[in-house]
Amino acid sequence: MTTGVPAPRPPGGPGRPSRRWPLARALLTALNGTTAAGLAVAVLTGARIRRGPDGLLVAEGYRRRLPPATCFTVGSVIITRRTAEWLLHADRADLLAHESRHVGQYAVLGPLFWPAYWVACGYSWVATGSYGSRNVFERHAGLGKGGYPEVALRPWIRRMLRGR
Ligand SMILES: [Zn+2]
Repeated sequence: MTTGVPAPRPPGGPGRPSRRWPLARALLTALNGTTAAGLAVAVLTGARIRRGPDGLLVAEGYRRRLPPATCFTVGSVIITRRTAEWLLHADRADLLAHESRHVGQYAVLGPLFWPAYWVACGYSWVATGSYGSRNVFERHAGLGKGGYPEVALRPWIRRMLRGR
C-alpha cells in the first residue's frame, strides 16, 4: 500500500493499540459537530445506529442511492448499506480500518473535511479519472483497504509533471 501522506500513528504501535487515540478521536468528532451530522444522516435516512469498537458508531441498513458506496463515514459514524455485524466481521478488518482513518480525518479537520474532501476528489478525477486514486484522504486511509484501485495519472498530467 502506498499512501501520499504519512499516517498519524497512534501511540503504542500496531501490536499494542492505544486507547487514547480512539477516545480523543471520538471526543474531537463530538466537539466539532461532525458526529452529530453523521447521526443526523443516520436518523433522517432510517439507518439503525449501533455501537462499534473504539468509540465508533455503525449506522446499518442505509438505503439511499447516494453515495453509491457500501460504507461512508461522517464524524465517528460509519454508515453502511449492510449490517453492523457484516462490517465488524474479521473479514472486513481492512475496510473498518479504512473507515476508522476517515474518522481520524474528521477529528482533525472537523467540518472542513467536507470541502477539503471534495477538492481532493476533484483533483483525483482531473488527474486520473477516478475520484479516489489520487485523493489524499483515500490514500491516507489506504486505497486498497477501501477497495480503490491505483489508477495511473492521465498522460497530459504525467507530461506536465515530467516537464517541470
Ligand atoms: Zn474511504
